[in-house]
Amino acid sequence: MLVIAIIVMGVMGAVFGLLLGFAGKKFYVEVDPRVAQIRGVLPGGNCGACGFPGCDGLAEAIAKGEAPADGCKPGGAAIAAKIAEILGVSVGESNGRSIARVTCGGDRVNCQNRSAYAGVPSCRAALLAGGGFKACEYGCLGLGDCVRACPFGAMRMSAAGLPEVDDEKCVACGKCVTGCPRGIMELVPESKTVFVRCRSKARGPVVRKACKVGCIACMACVKVCPTGAISVQDNLARIDYSKCDACGLCVAKCPAHAINDLRHGAGAAGDAGADRVAGQAAG
Ligand code: SF4
Ligand code: SF4
Repeated sequence: MLVIAIIVMGVMGAVFGLLLGFAGKKFYVEVDPRVAQIRGVLPGGNCGACGFPGCDGLAEAIAKGEAPADGCKPGGAAIAAKIAEILGVSVGESNGRSIARVTCGGDRVNCQNRSAYAGVPSCRAALLAGGGFKACEYGCLGLGDCVRACPFGAMRMSAAGLPEVDDEKCVACGKCVTGCPRGIMELVPESKTVFVRCRSKARGPVVRKACKVGCIACMACVKVCPTGAISVQDNLARIDYSKCDACGLCVAKCPAHAINDLRHGAGAAGDAGADRVAGQAAG
């Protein structure tokens, strides 16, 4: 009996061994070892700023060539360089850093409320309750949904009730852009320091009544811009950043102070603009 049992066990062991060997070959899934290497250098915050479901998703996409080596925005240049080394490629030309900008100047001083609001302190909730309480129907509600949406702590509300962006911390993940129900937040190339701080599509007289710094569609900026970068559409000035050289002439010309230059503040032309003005005066 014992001999038979040993023989049966031996045969079964051999059969199972063969089956396992066959299954191993048949169902073998090749794993790219670079995925684990890339995953190892990613920060592991699973913030989603890259557009993939967490760091695992980005690592796989990079290894497959479906995402760039510098796809992790919070990781920055140092992480991108390590990943490029794993892939054996160069990081390549960066498209340039973008920063989130607040495209509304209607703080509590510039833009009054048209009604009182005592509901849930959320911009989205305020909009649902009667379309918002600001005099400007396009303006920032100042209840900070964008600030709460930022996973990097790069935003805060100013004392006057407008969001502010910390350029050093902003990684251009766009969470504030999608988090703002008014469409106030925008990603702008860092080098383009001149931008329109208004979203109102209302006609000039309506804007004047609601806000001290809203675009009134007067076309003064369009006329003064030497590169043809500005156009007025739907009563609102817009800048084509592929043409704008951030000279700042429009900033100085805008009678409503609706265009800002981060280098010099509202109403001041940048260095290039000042040079141009001086050149025009001399010529
Ligand atoms: S920018 Fe948008 S989300 Fe942020 S406080 Fe203003 S309305 Fe609210
Ligand atoms: S100059 Fe100012 S107010 Fe006039 S269209 Fe340009 S941004 Fe608007």
